[in-house]
Amino acid sequence: MRKKLPKEVYLALQKTIKTGNKLSEEIAGVVAHGMKEWAMEHGATHYTHWFQPMTGSTAEKHDAFLTFDNHGAPIERFSGTQLIQGEPDASSFPSGGMRTTFEARGYTAWDPTSPAFLMKGGKGLTLCIPTVFISYHGEALDEKTPLLRSMSAVSKSAIKLLSILGAEGVTRVNTFAGSEQEYFLVDRKFYSMRPDLVMSGRTLLGANPPKGQQLEDHYFGSIPNRVLEFMQEVEEELYQLGIPAKTRHNEVAPHQFEIAPIYEQANIAADHNLLVMEVMRRVAERKGFALLLHEKPFDGINGSGKHNNWSIGTAEGMNLLEPGDTPESNIQFLVFLVAVLKGIYKRSAVLRASIASIGNDHRLGANEAPPAVVTVFLGELLEKVLDAIESGKVDFATEKQVLDLGLAHLPILNKDYTDRNRTSPFAFTGNKFEFRAVGSSQPISVPNMVLNTLMAEAMDELADEIQEKIDSGVNKDAAIQEVLRAEIKATKPIRYQGDNYSEDLQQAAADRGLPNLKNTPQAMRTLLDEDTRAMFARYDVLSNQEMDARLNTRLERYVKGIDIEARTLQLMLKTFVIPNVSEYQGEIANSFNGLVEAADRIGVAGKTLKSQGDHLKELAENLGEVIDLTAELDAVIEKMESYEEGFEVADYCADVVLPTMNKVREVADRLEFMVDRDKWELPTYSEMLFEH
Ligand code: ADP
Ligand code: MG
Repeated sequence: MRKKLPKEVYLALQKTIKTGNKLSEEIAGVVAHGMKEWAMEHGATHYTHWFQPMTGSTAEKHDAFLTFDNHGAPIERFSGTQLIQGEPDASSFPSGGMRTTFEARGYTAWDPTSPAFLMKGGKGLTLCIPTVFISYHGEALDEKTPLLRSMSAVSKSAIKLLSILGAEGVTRVNTFAGSEQEYFLVDRKFYSMRPDLVMSGRTLLGANPPKGQQLEDHYFGSIPNRVLEFMQEVEEELYQLGIPAKTRHNEVAPHQFEIAPIYEQANIAADHNLLVMEVMRRVAERKGFALLLHEKPFDGINGSGKHNNWSIGTAEGMNLLEPGDTPESNIQFLVFLVAVLKGIYKRSAVLRASIASIGNDHRLGANEAPPAVVTVFLGELLEKVLDAIESGKVDFATEKQVLDLGLAHLPILNKDYTDRNRTSPFAFTGNKFEFRAVGSSQPISVPNMVLNTLMAEAMDELADEIQEKIDSGVNKDAAIQEVLRAEIKATKPIRYQGDNYSEDLQQAAADRGLPNLKNTPQAMRTLLDEDTRAMFARYDVLSNQEMDARLNTRLERYVKGIDIEARTLQLMLKTFVIPNVSEYQGEIANSFNGLVEAADRIGVAGKTLKSQGDHLKELAENLGEVIDLTAELDAVIEKMESYEEGFEVADYCADVVLPTMNKVREVADRLEFMVDRDKWELPTYSEMLFEH
């Protein structure tokens, strides 16, 4: 930017980025010109407004710089208006019912806080301009707009709270996110032979190999070159895009890996995580792999998540979740920590809803993944501190007591404490929280938007509570202390230090009245809650109508997803399982008949005959069962249409369609081990997970 823009323009743009104010039109023209020059120097021919519609992925519409001048000669042009605003055909993106057809227009508007970038694709480069996507009336048609709004809400509430605490001169508070992304790689030749992977991203059939995860140690010794090259190329491409990230091969499951970027301001991190997924997908393809971002691609094998590391800090660089070395900064830390507890306790249901999806349903609540219950893990030391405050043993007025609590040593100690509990869905890790229940395929904009909003509310309410006490004549320290004490007590049920995969957690959730929303339709009902909606409206993040749109779109995606899965399974049963098993059964039957004849001729009925007979019987029985269950699945799919759109059909999917799919899968998987490998056309788990 500095190289391509006149100094005043550069400074004006920087100011816009920091303050979030509007960019003037003349400046936009100069910026656009500079951007075009830069992009063309690198070989770009097209530009696109790059945005996140409510489909859970990204969208772009490419336009060439090429145009004609007044004399009809071709020139390359990119104007300020083209930079600032685009008008994609909004009707091809979901609006959740917000847009009537006569207002089908949608607008994209440049988000100058997120750097423009050049994306490789095909033979060329495209200048990508991160944008928001809004309707004619200004409603958010994307996931980015609400995230940006939630960042403003956080800033406002945090500054209000900070000023009561006595921190002066803070102009902007931001949240930060770093998302550790897990993924699987499978060989493309296997992938393309599996309609389930191609259509739904997960295996709908497939028996677990006799040896699965217990092979991990052997496996890591021999990461094939191709995987290493994949990682190197991904890193290189990401660096070129300005995304510092490091790939690792330390995941539990075979063929599962992780990539961790350095954290950034949450809205930029959200864009960058989408780019990470996109770059990995492209590089994987180049290397002959398929990238699986599904939360549970292989049944019985650990799934993939995305740890969303989240913190809050001032634009000047002060992390508000970092205890300092003075009593004041420790009190400030405690206030923000309690704000997090307050926010999560009050809004855990909507946080849970923010990560509900068809894929994540397979993971949340399974034994290796965070449960559907959101609890907070703080670690031993902080637990002690909060307990001491709660029981009134601490007096903030004496510096010594605050120091005695050990708060000054927190940053060093806490990493160890928290790393001991990897089962917590929301763990404090030294100076940030790690939200571990996010699904691997999900854009992080939604959970971060919810985290920000619940935090904005909690900080706002805390500030009011403290102010009220001060106004009634209590001195500041005492007011803070009284409010903290009350809040620590009130939010206690959200703190859980035990094993979150255990039965005990389920019991604790029930005893404490914590929401335990088992599947997507259940979680989505939170979005109907009046009080939840009031929060999003109060902090100007989502209007009622925008909430409806998100609810509709997500339910629709859930139902469509299960419909696709069920139909794909139906197809696989009819075109692979049943014919493969039938053919094999025919061969066994022939050889059995041969044996019977031979036995008749020589007058003995040997062991072979008996075992062949048993095998044949077992095959026939299981095949019969698969045929019956396939017919049942047919009927179940057909009945989907008779349910009303929305919750009714979504519940039917969760309660009837998925269980029916699981039932037939169980028998089909049994058959996989009974049939000769040559006759079973689908690549098996061991091939996909252990061969490269
Ligand atoms: P883990 O033990 O969970 O693997 P790592 O230290 O490897 O943790 O990864 C931590 C992630 O958290 C990285 O992506 C890092 O950039 C991010 N992170 C570190 N500090 C912060 C912070 N203050 N706010 C948000 N994210 C952070
Ligand atoms: Mg982590």
